[in-house]
Amino acid sequence: MSSHLDGDLLAGATVRARMAREAARPMREQGVAGIVLSFVDTAGINRIKTVPVERLPAAATRGVGMSPVFDTFLADDSLTTTARFGGPDGDLRLVPDLAALTVLAAQPGWAWAPVNRYTQDGAPYVLCQRRYAAEAASRCQEAGLDVIAAVEIEWAVARGDGAGFEPACRGPAYGMARLVELSDYARDLLVALQREGVEVEQLHPEYSDGQYEVSVGPTDLVTAADRSVLVRQTIRAVSAQHGLQVSFAPSVVNGHVGNGGHIHLSARSGERNIFAGGDRRHGLTAAGEAFAAGILEELPGLCAVGAPTVASYLRLVPSHWAGAFQCWGLETREAALRLVRGLRGDQDRAANIEVKCVDLTANPYLLLGALAGAGLAGVRRQARLPEEVTGDPALLDPAELKARGVQRLPQSLPEAIDALAASATLREVLGDDQLEVVLGVRRAEAERFAGREDDEVVAATRWVY
Ligand code: GLU
Ligand code: MG
Repeated sequence: MSSHLDGDLLAGATVRARMAREAARPMREQGVAGIVLSFVDTAGINRIKTVPVERLPAAATRGVGMSPVFDTFLADDSLTTTARFGGPDGDLRLVPDLAALTVLAAQPGWAWAPVNRYTQDGAPYVLCQRRYAAEAASRCQEAGLDVIAAVEIEWAVARGDGAGFEPACRGPAYGMARLVELSDYARDLLVALQREGVEVEQLHPEYSDGQYEVSVGPTDLVTAADRSVLVRQTIRAVSAQHGLQVSFAPSVVNGHVGNGGHIHLSARSGERNIFAGGDRRHGLTAAGEAFAAGILEELPGLCAVGAPTVASYLRLVPSHWAGAFQCWGLETREAALRLVRGLRGDQDRAANIEVKCVDLTANPYLLLGALAGAGLAGVRRQARLPEEVTGDPALLDPAELKARGVQRLPQSLPEAIDALAASATLREVLGDDQLEVVLGVRRAEAERFAGREDDEVVAATRWVY
């Protein structure tokens, strides 16, 4: 397992060259021809380069070139710039993390590795989001917290030419009929993920038309983000093998329940889960309460990280299980922050918090790093949770919501941008560099859709993610 925090690119080159040669040999024998080197840009798009398997040692030692312009790419491949980032100049080195190298089970002949990005001087690149997540995890560790996470993946499966959305199955939500309709597809997906070493916990038909969900076991933050990328591209590849199209977009059909990308977070302090066995509400420890409160307080600004598209706000509406209100509750699916306790006797293993208001258009590295950072900020100032909510906050009258201090989360991308720009805590959590590109890209995304009808936004976003 790599530490995810390697320093100078040139320092470890000899060791990486040997590891790469050792990794490449059996892959070649298995028929792997090419390696996908992938990262996720600020707009949430998985961008790649590939090398023939023979070039893996070279890629692992020197990296492959790629422009830094992708940090300010938008989801439609147009470009923006910020005061300090973007534009045509410069080049970076993409270096595959060999510890995460995976043979792609649904793309015969291909393997995949997430990359860390370095400058041509061999130093870690300031906007490398994967390193950002690793640094956030390491800051938590220095404070005595081992954070683990998992990203839930929801998607809608479609047939047809992609002009509209034609669900590939008709059966009801959570219905056996829907699994029977796509039985081979779902099996092939389970097999592929298993072959890729992804620990699937559950696969089920979800609420919306043609919608499914897969949940995977928790891992360290960087691996959880890697998996979120790997699982989605595997779903896409298996779908392609079955002649199906997939949408991970927050809103697939305007007005319907959309695709979330809920994040589960847990943390251990020494031997102990901070979300169980404590003397605060529902067994939270003081650190667990403070971590949760730190995230809850920053959710409006975190929406600009975790719900980063205009379409995100067509999903993030009340009574759609998306968590549209800034509140928390025990097993409350309408609260943006849900405390999950687990079975009696199993709580030390199972207890976690689920952040529901975020979706799969987010860059998972940035989002997991920012959530951990906000949680840690809460721990540092011993933040306390407000009163919890039970039931659907949308059913409480506005006066009651106000009395309880429960607010709607941002209702549009510009509102989320304002909340992020106004947060001193998130400036610290993201750092000036990441904050600059996040704000720049979000403002440009908002501008791109300004004045467009909701249906147009949905259609323009549906097949991009
Ligand atoms: N699809 C819902 C969302 O947009 C979530 C459903 C669930 O609770 O899993 O977040
Ligand atoms: Mg779900």
